[in-house]
Amino acid sequence: MNSDKPRHAPQSQFPVRDGHLHIGGIALPRLAQRVGRTPFYAYDRALLTARARELRAALPAGLRLHYSLKANPMPALVQHMSSLVDGLDVASGGELKVALDTGMQAQHISFAGPGKTDAELTQAIAAGAVLHLESLRELESVARIGEALGLRPMVMLRINPDFELKSSGMKMGGGPRQFGVDVEQAPQLLRRISELGLDWQGLHIFSGSQCLNAQAIAETQSKTFELALRLADHAAQAPRLLNIGGGFGIPYFAGETALQVGPIADNLAHWLPRAQAALGGATVALELGRYLVGEAGIYVTQVIDRKVSRGQVFLVTDGGMHHHLAASGNLGQVIRKNYPVAVGNRMNEKSGETVSVVGPLCTPLDMLAERMELPAADVGDLIVIFQSGAYGCSASPSAFLGHPQALEVLV
Ligand SMILES: *Cc1c(COP(=O)(O)O)cnc(C)c1O
Repeated sequence: MNSDKPRHAPQSQFPVRDGHLHIGGIALPRLAQRVGRTPFYAYDRALLTARARELRAALPAGLRLHYSLKANPMPALVQHMSSLVDGLDVASGGELKVALDTGMQAQHISFAGPGKTDAELTQAIAAGAVLHLESLRELESVARIGEALGLRPMVMLRINPDFELKSSGMKMGGGPRQFGVDVEQAPQLLRRISELGLDWQGLHIFSGSQCLNAQAIAETQSKTFELALRLADHAAQAPRLLNIGGGFGIPYFAGETALQVGPIADNLAHWLPRAQAALGGATVALELGRYLVGEAGIYVTQVIDRKVSRGQVFLVTDGGMHHHLAASGNLGQVIRKNYPVAVGNRMNEKSGETVSVVGPLCTPLDMLAERMELPAADVGDLIVIFQSGAYGCSASPSAFLGHPQALEVLV
């Protein structure tokens, strides 16, 4: 293999027939006609279902599975996910509305995130959703609003643990954080929850995101269980639920490989009976976003122009960083790397040239693929960016430069 040529993680979840990538059983050019215009995101229902089922089959029975809307809040997709999981996790009043619209029982919808406004707290308490408390101030606000509404708010306490998820793409626990309350303060808040008569559900301990190392996830989960058992001694009653976070990653870049769920499942099988015995039968939940939806989605953009500048080929497309910030390398990457990319209507053709795929924005940051080997493509061809089902459309600055929004379809 030529190692100085940029490569990307191989993709095989979407079938190819007659040279066309198929999504939801539909050939990409036909799907583009059906959508009506490019650029668009397409999410494959059958792949979403298969991923959730396979994960459940691999994990110990009795573990609850939650979907985090932050990864992809498209209403049709969330509706589909609501039939595959036991709970929905939201982080804003807007996401709460989408979650409630699915018909998921409010007691299985949890609302986490720092800086919840009184309006958002009111929405959640009125709906009967579970609030994940992130500070003492928020705790007092929840009690005050609950009293004013004549309702007893359901709450979990979110803990910022004294450890982090190693080798994760994004750390969200350990050290000083804006998320949750430091474990050192937890006993005080647990006392206050009890004094104020809130309906305490349990503990939420989330340490990180986008981790491909099963050992690191299993280790963090063990520390999470140990911490939960220690903290539970400080609560007036046994927790009903322990949300141990998630952090399961998906491969994006050359050299990355899929997460092995086996070692995580083995570790959970070891802990579940122990935790349940020690915590008075509490159920345990895993909350996942990216892992459940990321690989089921693609972003599709059409070649508008083909330019050669000093020997380098640029495919200029109608889509770019304003729709897919992450693929452009501008959502948290330190060094820009290429997402997996293909010419979706030339899947049987050999790589013919090295090209860069760029968007229409007047900034060099608007790069979807840099010097990749692709089949020779021209105006009208459909460029596909894989691994785009999570942190794509909703995580991009769509107003930047005033181009039309990307469409989204679930097929
Ligand atoms: C972002 C987030 C998630 C989802 O993370 P993924 O990496 O998409 O699985 C889960 N829980 C909390 C609290 C989050 O903030």
